[in-house]
Amino acid sequence: MTFSCLGVGIGTARAIALGPAFLLTRGGPIEVPPRRIESTEVEEEIQRLLRAIARAQQELQAVRRQIPATASASIAQFIDTHLLMLEDVTLTETTVHLIRNQLCAAECALQVHRDNLVRVFEEMEDAYLRSRKQDVEHVVNQIQKALLGPESTKDLRRADLRGRILVAQDLLPADVIVLKQRGIAAFVTELGGPMSHTAILARGLDLPAIVGVHHITRYLRDGETLVVDCLNGVVLAEATPAILGFYRERIRAYEARRAALKKILHRPSVSLDGVGIDLLANIEIPDDIATARGNGAAGVGLYRTEFLYMNRDSLPDEEEQLDAYRRVVEGMGAIPVTIRTLDLGVDKQAEGHPLPCPAPCNPALGLRAIRLCLREPELFRPQLRAILRASALGPVRLMIPMLSSLQELASVLRLIEETKQALQSEGLAFDPDIPVGGMIEVPAAALAAGSFARRLDFLSIGTNDLIQYTLAIDRVDEAVTYLYDPLHPAILRLIRMVIEAGQRQGIPVGMCGEMAGDPRFTRLLLGMGLREFSMQPRALLEVKAVIRESNVAKLAQDIEELLAGLDGFDAESLAQRVDALNPKRLH
Ligand code: PEP
Ligand code: MG
Repeated sequence: MTFSCLGVGIGTARAIALGPAFLLTRGGPIEVPPRRIESTEVEEEIQRLLRAIARAQQELQAVRRQIPATASASIAQFIDTHLLMLEDVTLTETTVHLIRNQLCAAECALQVHRDNLVRVFEEMEDAYLRSRKQDVEHVVNQIQKALLGPESTKDLRRADLRGRILVAQDLLPADVIVLKQRGIAAFVTELGGPMSHTAILARGLDLPAIVGVHHITRYLRDGETLVVDCLNGVVLAEATPAILGFYRERIRAYEARRAALKKILHRPSVSLDGVGIDLLANIEIPDDIATARGNGAAGVGLYRTEFLYMNRDSLPDEEEQLDAYRRVVEGMGAIPVTIRTLDLGVDKQAEGHPLPCPAPCNPALGLRAIRLCLREPELFRPQLRAILRASALGPVRLMIPMLSSLQELASVLRLIEETKQALQSEGLAFDPDIPVGGMIEVPAAALAAGSFARRLDFLSIGTNDLIQYTLAIDRVDEAVTYLYDPLHPAILRLIRMVIEAGQRQGIPVGMCGEMAGDPRFTRLLLGMGLREFSMQPRALLEVKAVIRESNVAKLAQDIEELLAGLDGFDAESLAQRVDALNPKRLH
């Protein structure tokens, strides 16, 4: 059996994918799918082409100027050849002719011209001349890049990605949505941590992904078959049929397990000793409600509204937001939907609203989420109005992310009251008793959970950020991912404090961070008193299966003992004790 292990990273889900590689950051020929244009667009398309050729020339001239005087003369000759090809009138004339006569976009016309030229070179007898087809490809690529812009979401939209494994240096959460729509099988990135929004989104979309595989783009050929094994965090290339067969079998076993779990879809989420547990879904876009319902969610525990602001140049107005919320609220039927107010920040940016944060500051600690919204009420107000108006359509809860101070909370509550009054005077309907909750994801808020619990209707623990801020590890920085530890004694104590603060105040406490959707922590959290879990929808049935075979009263005793002895355990023995609580199949 032979294969190359191309890299080891961090798997973001318990999944496996096979498929041809699509390398985002390399100089191979750029392929674009056909795009027709209207006859009225022809002149503008020709101008686009001419501008792109001019830009490609400028870029090559800049490269030529930077060639050191000591470098071999052949390097300058090589670039001169490409510059001459760019100046060649037949390149422009033929492409313009194709745009006019075939009504196709500039990049498509250029691709047709390139393919014709490449065919001519390929038919040449002389091996040297045949190899010069690469010059044509380089020059056309240079123009294509100028036409399509930098490697970005816009490129991803154009490429044919169906069934392919995208390999890139890094991806934004906004890219992941486009990738999923383009039918990608999986992705691998050189950078990023498993709790980054990019990775979370991939999990939510059931897209296998491995992040943090350093330098992988250097060692790959476009189109070669890859195995993406998220369970072990490895990417394999050049796998033999035996290895591929082994992985196909594992994919079948995974699908069989999912099919078996469907049997408990309509069974209640109740423990062996009769404790009912609310299992809710985390969603990013209205389309996710189909998966949430298909996996038996009893409501939405976290609707990450910021995704409505991404992949577009302008901000959504109140009506557009209301439409999106209406789809979710009506789509979920009469079960509760928790709409979280905007959590924009450095890793979730809206093109229509550049962050005011200057580059050198520490963005995770800066203007993010509720801080940004309070600083920019003109951004926040339309959303508050839309959420309140959505509350007239069904049971809606409003949730505030990243609270850290009581003054901040007072400001938000005041703004909500003002918004209610404005809606009332305009005769617009809303639920006057809409529950308002807060995310506990900053250690200060966890330590002061009692104060927040007195002023709010519910709390939800955001462990992704709580772990980031408590352990001082940037969730997007793969260099410190090894420190990410939901079982760190500090984290367990903070979670416990928040649950107890809610119990004392008689308000519900949920958890919507990734920890809630990991079945290996379900029994631990049940024993700590958690009764509401919100997670990516595909994790719901696995967590429900664990709940249905657990005795909560017994777990409460076990966890009491575990927490009492916390200071005496090292990380390994603590992890073993938590593991020992679990059913064998999760070990
Ligand atoms: C969290 O921080 O745990 C959370 C659920 O919010 P997000 O991942 O969107 O920051
Ligand atoms: Mg968060």
